Amino acid sequence: MLLKRKLSEKMTDKPKVDPNEPIMQRTLILFKPDSVQRAIVGKVLQRFEDAGFKIVGMKMRWIDRNFGKKHYFDVAQRHGEIVLNRLLNSITEGPVIAMVLEGISAVEQVRKIVGSTEPKSATPGTIRGDFAQHSYAVADSKDVGIKNIVHSSGSLKDAEYEIALWFTPDELHTYKTVHEIHVF
Ligand code: UDP
Ligand code: MG
Repeated sequence: MLLKRKLSEKMTDKPKVDPNEPIMQRTLILFKPDSVQRAIVGKVLQRFEDAGFKIVGMKMRWIDRNFGKKHYFDVAQRHGEIVLNRLLNSITEGPVIAMVLEGISAVEQVRKIVGSTEPKSATPGTIRGDFAQHSYAVADSKDVGIKNIVHSSGSLKDAEYEIALWFTPDELHTYKTVHEIHVF
């Protein structure tokens, strides 16, 4: 019986949950200057709230290049200095809103809601696919960063680093939502 159940589980398409990662996670999102200046923060935030993610921290902050480099610590290594420089120009051109969201596999699920990096190729239904259209080609021709509305942490390790960079422990809050009773 046990063997049968194990075999049938193997045949399903269930995503593999890393047993070393906690189920309930916190992740960092940033409303980048393009979404703040376009006044679409409310609509974008609604998508995370609709999925039941809980806001446990929130602040508005105008960051400088030095802080931007700390946040995007591996972008030069992954994409090169030119991309980092463009990104620092765009992330410092206006205030950003930083939030910590909490929920089931929050890192992976929030990235799913956000969509892929280039809005032009992001799937419809994702934030980047629905609220933006920028492409690598246009960004390159104008020597600017990709305007893609929000940042979200790429891994649990990144999330822990980014949350500690943006928030002190007493700026993060614990409370219960109706989702904990009706959705989880
Ligand atoms: N970025 C860019 N041009 C590129 C690659 C990245 O402007 O060719 C910017 C873009 O704003 C992106 C950010 O750098 O959101 C961080 O890159 P990453 O690969 O971490 O993408 P993300 O995790 O945001 O999808
Ligand atoms: Mg990233």
